[in-house]
Amino acid sequence: MNYDYSETIPYLLQWYDYNHRILPWRSNPQPYYVWISEIMLQQTRVEAVKGYFDRFITALPTIKDLAEVDDEKLMKLWEGLGYYNRARNLKKAAIVVVEEYNGELPADFDKLLALPGIGSYTAGAIGSIAFGLPVPAVDGNFLRVLKRVAGSYDDITKAKVKKQLEEDLFAIMPKDRPGDYNQSLMELGATVCIPNGKPLCDQCPLMHMCKAFHSGTEMQIPVKPPKKARKLEARTVLIYEYEGKYAIRKREDKGLLAGLWELPNVEQQMGFEQVEEFVKEEGILVDEIRKLEAAKHIFSHIEWHMQAYYIKLSTLSDTLKSDYVWATPSSIQSTYSLPSAFEAYKRCLV
Ligand code: SF4
Repeated sequence: MNYDYSETIPYLLQWYDYNHRILPWRSNPQPYYVWISEIMLQQTRVEAVKGYFDRFITALPTIKDLAEVDDEKLMKLWEGLGYYNRARNLKKAAIVVVEEYNGELPADFDKLLALPGIGSYTAGAIGSIAFGLPVPAVDGNFLRVLKRVAGSYDDITKAKVKKQLEEDLFAIMPKDRPGDYNQSLMELGATVCIPNGKPLCDQCPLMHMCKAFHSGTEMQIPVKPPKKARKLEARTVLIYEYEGKYAIRKREDKGLLAGLWELPNVEQQMGFEQVEEFVKEEGILVDEIRKLEAAKHIFSHIEWHMQAYYIKLSTLSDTLKSDYVWATPSSIQSTYSLPSAFEAYKRCLV
C-alpha cells in the first residue's frame, strides 16, 4: 500500500450523512440509473445533468429500451451533452447486457468493466452504489481530495498514479457502505475540496488529517502538467434557407462530431465578398446574404471560431436538393440532433 486512507472513512461517512445532495439517481439507485447518471456526470455538472437524466430515463425507461433505440433518437436525447460517443457506447453496452445478462447489469466489477464505454470509475460507481460491492470509483475528485490529504506531489494525469490510488482504496473500502464512501468523496470534491479556486477547508471533515492544508500547499496539489494550447480553427457557417427549410448535412463517421448533423460550413474565415464569390462559384442563386454574429465553440482540444452568413436561396438546384437534407425548424427541434457547437445559430433557424 502506498498510503493508508482508512482513517478518512468515519469522517467522510458522517459528513456525507449530513451533507449529501438529494439527486434522482441517489433516491432510487437502480443500476441502470446509476450508470446513465455517471456517464452524464463525466462531462456535465450535477445541476445540469438532472434535466438530461429525467428526459433520458422517461424516453428510455429500461436497458432494453436503450438497446433498441433508434440512433437518431439517441443522438437527440444526448443533444447538448457533447461527447456523443458516450451515448453510442451506452447503446452498445445495453445490447450486450440484453444479450448476455437478460437486460440486467451484472453485479460484478470485472463484468461491468468489460462492457463498452465502462471504465474503472464507472464500474466502481455502479458496483458500489447500486450493488454494494467494496470497489472504489476513482475520478478527478478522488485524486484531488486524496492527494491533498496525503500531501502528494504525484502527477495525477499519469495512469500509474490513478492505478496506485485504486489499489490503496481497494484495500480499505468499507464493506458496509462502499457506495456512500465513494459518493462522499465525489460530493466533497464537488462542493468543498473544489477543482477550481481555493478549497473550503474550514468546512472539510478531513481538515485535521490533511497534509496539504497543514503545509498550506492545497493550491499546489494536485499536480498536473500544463495543458497543451487548443488548436484554433476558423470556420464559415452557411445557413442556407429555401422556403422556410434549412440545409443540414451529416458529418463523416469518423473524427470530431462523427455522424452528427451540422449546418454547412467550410474550414476558413470568409468575408462577405468571399461568401458572395463562393455561392456564385457553386452555382447557387440567392435572394439575400446577411452576415450574422461571430461565435466560438470550445471542444476539448480545438476551438472553432465561426462566422456565419444567412443565405436565402431563390431556387433550389438538383445538386443542393441532393447534397443536403432540407429541414423545417420544428423538425430540427424534434428530430435532428445539431450539436451545441452550432448553438449560437440555432435561434436563426426560425
Ligand atoms: S482540508 Fe482543504 S485541501 Fe484538505 S481535503 Fe479538505 S478541503 Fe481539500
